[in-house]
This record gives sequence, C-alpha cells and structure tokens, in this order.
Amino acid sequence: MSLIVQKFGGTSVADCEKILAAARKAIRAQQDGHQVVMVVSAMGKNTDMLVDLAGQITERPPAREMDMLLSTGEQVSVALMAMAIDSLGFSAVSLTGAQIGIRTDSTHTKARILSISTDRLQHHLDAGKIVIAAGFQGIDEEFNITTLGRGGSDTTAVALAAVLHADACEIHTDVDGVYTTDPRIMPEARRVSRVSYDEMLELASLGAGVMHSRSIEFAKKFSVPIHVRSSFSDIPGTMIVSEPELSDRAVSGAALTRDEAKITAVGVPDVPGTSYEIFSRIADRNVTVDMIVQNIGDGGRADISFTVPRDELAVTLEAIDEARTVTGDFDVTHDDQVAKVSVVGMGMATQAGVADRMFLALSEAEINIKMITTSEIKISTLVERDQALAALRAVHNAFALDQNPESIPPLADAGSRPPSDAADIVHQLQNMERLRIDKIDLDDSQGRVTIHGVPNAPGVAERVFREIAEAGIFVDMIVQSYPSDGEANLSFTVPKESIEQSKIVAENLAKDFPSLQVSSSPDVAKLSVSGIGLRSHTGVAIRMFRALSETGINVQMINTSEVRVNVIVDGKDGEKARAALEEVFSDVM
Ligand code: ADP
Ligand code: ASP
Ligand code: MG
Repeated sequence: MSLIVQKFGGTSVADCEKILAAARKAIRAQQDGHQVVMVVSAMGKNTDMLVDLAGQITERPPAREMDMLLSTGEQVSVALMAMAIDSLGFSAVSLTGAQIGIRTDSTHTKARILSISTDRLQHHLDAGKIVIAAGFQGIDEEFNITTLGRGGSDTTAVALAAVLHADACEIHTDVDGVYTTDPRIMPEARRVSRVSYDEMLELASLGAGVMHSRSIEFAKKFSVPIHVRSSFSDIPGTMIVSEPELSDRAVSGAALTRDEAKITAVGVPDVPGTSYEIFSRIADRNVTVDMIVQNIGDGGRADISFTVPRDELAVTLEAIDEARTVTGDFDVTHDDQVAKVSVVGMGMATQAGVADRMFLALSEAEINIKMITTSEIKISTLVERDQALAALRAVHNAFALDQNPESIPPLADAGSRPPSDAADIVHQLQNMERLRIDKIDLDDSQGRVTIHGVPNAPGVAERVFREIAEAGIFVDMIVQSYPSDGEANLSFTVPKESIEQSKIVAENLAKDFPSLQVSSSPDVAKLSVSGIGLRSHTGVAIRMFRALSETGINVQMINTSEVRVNVIVDGKDGEKARAALEEVFSDVM
C-alpha cells in the first residue's frame, strides 16, 4: 500500500477552521487509498510567543528548558488535529517525538536526528489510523526533550518520509510552491515547477525560509522527492528532486539573509593553525560561519573576515576572545548592520560572466559590496542592511528571474525513488544526520591573482570581472573583503594559462586606481571536499584547517557551500594536502 507524508506548517494550522481543513486533506488522501502520516507545526505564531515568554523571564534561558517549552506548541496542534479527524468520523492517533522514537543528539535547540524507530508508526498505520506526528522535536539518550531548530518540522517530515520509504512527501504551507525569491518580498517572483536538491540546499541555507535546509539534506541523502504546495488550494506547486528545472540556466533563484553580522580579526599571526584556533572555538558553540575570507598576509599578519547570524554575534565574539589567549593578541572589528544577498544556479559552474552580471547589477543600483564569496553554484555578497532589498531586486531583475522559461523539459524519473531493501533501510537509519563526505578532489590547473588595495566604492569588482569576462577568461573562486573601512584585497583563481592575461587586466585597472597592487601565484592547488551537510555540520572547515595546519600548510583562500568546501593552497603542497584531508575524513567517507 502506498504511504504519504503530509506536513502542515504553522499558518496552515493557525486556527480551528484551518485545522479542520488540513484534517480533510489527510482524510481525502486516505480515501484515495494511501496510508497517511501527518506532521504538524505549532499553531500560527505560537513558537514565537513561547520564545518571547522565555525572554520575559530571563535573557539566557537554559537550552534544555527552552526545548521543554517550545515542544509544547506542537503537542497542542497534534492533539487538536487528532480530535478534528475523529470529529469527522475517521480514526487518528497523535504522537510526540518521544512517542514515535525520534532519537537525537543532545544539542538542545539545534539537535540532530540519530535514528527513528518505525514500529509504532507502522503498527498504527496498519490499524487504519492516520498518524499525526509532532514536528520539530525528539528525545535524547537521557530522555530529555530536544528540538531541531526553528523551522525544523520540515526536517521531521522528510526524515519520516525517508525511514518509512514514503511514496510522497508533501509540504503544505502558506505559499503555493518555491519561488525564484521570497514572493512576499518581491511579488514579481516566479513560482518554479521544480528545483534540484543542490539548488534548494543552497537557497534554504542562504535565507529562503520556505524549507528548513536540513530537510533537504535528508531528501538528497535518501532520495525523497518533496512536493511543496499550498494548504489552501490544490495548485500543483513545486517538486524538489535531483533534476533542476533547466540545467543550463546560470541562475535559478536569489535569496536574502537579512540578519547577518560581519566579523574581522585584524592582523592575526599568518601561521598555520591560527584559523583553527579561532574557528574551532566558534564551531564548539555550534555557530554556522559563512563567507570566510582570509586575506593573504602582509608582513606575517593576515586579516580573516567572516559572517555569522546576527543573533550569534555575542557568542562568536566570546569564542574569539578565548582564541586570542592562545594565538596572541589581535584586533577584532564587527558590523551587525549587514545582510547577505546570494544567487544560486546549477548552470553557473559552466558559464563565464555570471559574477560579473551580478556585480554590474549591484553597481548600477549604487550598492557597495562589502564582501564576496563564490562556490560552484552560488555567489554571495554582503551589503548594508538598508540596501538589502534594493540589492535583491537588482539581482532578481538582472537575471530575469521573473520571466517564464520558453519550455521546461519533463522530469526524467518522474520523481520516483529507487527501490531499497530492508537491510539498506536499517543501515540508513544509523545516525541519519551524520556528515557524509563523498570525495576529495585535487585540481592543480589553476593560478591565483590578488589585487591589493581595492577602493571601498561601488563598481570596482564589477569592472575587474567585466574586463576579465570580456577577455573570455573563466573565473572560478572569488573572495573579497574589506577588513575595516579601508581598502580590500580581491583574490580570484583562473586557469593557469590565463594568469598572464588576468594580470594584464588587473594592472590596467591599477592605472586608474593608483592604490592598487597586483600579486599572483601561477601555481596553486585547489582541494575540494564534497558531500552533504558540509556547512550545517559546523566542524568541517575546522577539521580541514586542523589537518592542513598540522601538516604545516597555509590556507590561501577558502569557500564553503552546503555540498562542498574548497581551499586554495600553494601548488607544491597539493598532494600533501590531499593526503592530510583523506586521513582526517577517513571516518566519514
Ligand atoms: P510554514 O509555517 O508552513 O513552515 P514558513 O513561514 O516556514 O511556513 O515558510 C513559508 C514562507 O517562506 C513563505 O510565506 C515565504 O514568505 C517564505 N519564503 C522565503 N523564500 C521563499 C521562496 N524562495 N519561495 C517561496 N517562499 C519563500
Ligand atoms: N514550530 C517551530 C517553529 O516555528 C517548528 C516549525 O514550524 O517548523 O520554528
Ligand atoms: Mg517552515
């Protein structure tokens, strides 16, 4: 018999009428011949209200008690949902995370799922009941209630679909699908018919709040097709599957993270191991670091800039203070008035001139870019928070994301899941959210160019990359940051044979901007670690820094995405670096 998981978010169960409407949808699915598992969020803004209540008691509520409190929201809605189904004459049972047997680690407020037992669920389903599971919660070894992080009911739903080997996982929400950007911010955004796991992973982790990014890690790992659709209509919505809508489109979506903070460690000793001392302490506090930019050191000192979510600035600064006691003193500056605007697309990896188009759009809108990082399928820029909306709009327009594509090829595998036998499923259940590394690659075909002293003004990055694109040079990694209010270093990598030409472009620019200086290294090695959950598992970049620093190798550039971390090291260190990384990740490969 086929099985379907239907998740209903907060707005979709905000009042009793909506709960009854959701109950009818589940009943309809059962009458169509499916076994039905519902996953339900807390009603409306209930979770926010509980967070607010805790805040009225204390500024720093113990994380364990926070989970105890927040999990009650979902407990209310599952009970009401079961009553609703019962009142309509059908049979249902509500279960908390603990009752289902969703085991997690003990990282309160951000717990990860270790395993889910399916016996109890299956027993109720076989008895003809609609099972109503509380989203967002689990239980640790010591029977403490845990929660998976805000928005975590999506992750419950996809995880249940994975372990039950469901035929469909429907995410019912207050929008009728995934759009090219948040349709509440930009009404002209277009609903996409489908989006690939990799694109959705990046979009979700870069601010597209429609899906919890960890739910997409599950979906990709266990090949669960997700159907995002409206709770309030029967419009087909969006499929999240392995294939993108159009594989050759450079950019398929844009996202905004409004509340970011930028931190710069100024003049840290430029020796292997410094980054490790800093980032390991931040990772220990489970803070996800993004946009790491290390500027090539002058005089034995380097600047390291990175971003963290704004509400984690204080704990990050605390971690850096601790690191300073080990590395020796350096200055730290921070800016909490920044936002991150990113574009994502599968086609970017193979097309020149994408970064250039984004920078041009921002420069025409007179928006200054404070920081840039790229990866194979995304470009992120950091801008002033009050310019964030204008930046998002400029970029959305520049890539014509509101336009319908001429035609969309049909889905090759119709979103179906590969068969899997019982032993396979049991194996998958072990440590479900574990980090997975698929491969470590070494690319020694590139060189690096660094432009020092880039003035802090709109349009400079645009000019560099326009001229490079016009010369037909394919730029791979880009990082730029303004350490303080002064001048930036802008580093990028290009194929070795394009180094000389790139230097000429950069040196030409120096004629107009006397402060510019160009340096380059014709021979660098790029190490790429690919897998799933590389950013949300905060320890990955740290393990890399540690492995490389213990081998005496300095990291020249780094970029991170959900599916890949790339580092640039000196060309002569390539093989040694690969061996060190293979060793340090041997337990998760
Ligand atoms: P739920 O309570 O159902 O989980 P959420 O509020 O978590 O709903 O997610 C739905 C919201 O996500 C939408 O109302 C929309 O404003 C926002 N959103 C952000 N980015 C996107 C996007 N790219 N496509 C669709 N919705 C988006
Ligand atoms: N109720 C939780 C929250 O608001 C979980 C969820 O809705 O996904 O974050
Ligand atoms: Mg949500």
